[in-house]
Amino acid sequence: MTPLARLLAARIAAEGPMPLAEFMVACLLHPEHGYYTGRDPLGAAGDFTTAPEISQMFGELLGLALAHAWRDQGAPGRIVLAEPGPGRGTLMADALRAAARVPGFTAAAGVHLVEASPLLRAAQAARLADHLPTWHDRLADLPETPLYLIANEFFDALPIRQFVRQRAGWAERQVGLSAGRLVLGLAPALPLAALAPRLADTQPGDVVETCAPAEAAIGEIAGRIARHGGAAIIIDYGDWISRGDTFQALRGHAPCDPLQAPGKADLTAHVAFAPLAAAARAAGAATSALVPQGVLLERLGITARAQVLARGLSGAALHSHIAAHRRLTHPQEMGNLFKALAIHPAGAPPPPGFVSDQPKADHAHDA
Ligand code: SAH
Repeated sequence: MTPLARLLAARIAAEGPMPLAEFMVACLLHPEHGYYTGRDPLGAAGDFTTAPEISQMFGELLGLALAHAWRDQGAPGRIVLAEPGPGRGTLMADALRAAARVPGFTAAAGVHLVEASPLLRAAQAARLADHLPTWHDRLADLPETPLYLIANEFFDALPIRQFVRQRAGWAERQVGLSAGRLVLGLAPALPLAALAPRLADTQPGDVVETCAPAEAAIGEIAGRIARHGGAAIIIDYGDWISRGDTFQALRGHAPCDPLQAPGKADLTAHVAFAPLAAAARAAGAATSALVPQGVLLERLGITARAQVLARGLSGAALHSHIAAHRRLTHPQEMGNLFKALAIHPAGAPPPPGFVSDQPKADHAHDA
């Protein structure tokens, strides 16, 4: 048992089983034993890799997309350029380097990072030293100004709850104890008003996941965009609505049992984008249609950019550059599994690469 498993077992013995969300928060963020607290999880030596670590093109194209949205909105003079869960700071560094080509953008932008891990904060400080970032513990602490925000693989780290459909109600999955070991179990079934709409598209035994902290985070982001202008690009693996059990543990780039080594493995779940879009609209902002990552990157010109970068490369470096382009965009790699959603003010267009999903105001004039 890991030290964290012993702590959790003692808590469950004293207080009873805990919902999955509480287990996830402890495993990821426990101040002493949490997964993100004590390590850099990214890269070959870590447990997983992410799009910005695969190629500089990812951050460059997203940085330019945000700078384009900023110009579309009249190039406001003081903005926040923010990223929750910035990892090693690679995406932000690439975005800032590319967006520096857009006159006035980086001069207007204060860089704000929301990061829970002290170790990753240090990596971000080293990477982004020239830009003097400000760190926050929570999105709610971001200043009230126009907000331009990118989030990649942040929302998948937020704690989910899982509910198993019964005949007419829902039984929550929880972590309990059996013979001194952590085990998954089910709480008694309850009718849940929030999940009532899902009775129509699920069968008994199906799992539905919810993530209230993700909706609250979107509320903070979208509220600022509605009040002050700005744009947000949210990228993560997932789908429009939650379908089935997507709770996953990764250790050393391989799946493992989430209960096996609490605090030692990365825990994630697929992001359900429909509740996030609904939260953004409830906060007064508009949202784009959901777009697969590969389609978004193609629309933003990744192939042209890849060709320019390829000119300076040969041999193994060229080979890995071509592989990176494929990995980011190909439908059988990250291109389809990862999706992107944009949030923008109701009165401004979505950032480039995105299509508004607002119903068209009036087609009568076209007739
Ligand atoms: N966006 C980066 C890193 C993704 S890993 C990339 O694409 O490479 C997830 C990131 O979110 C890490 O930086 C992790 O420390 C951070 N994180 C996870 N949960 C968090 C929380 N509740 N609050 C703030 N940061 C969090």
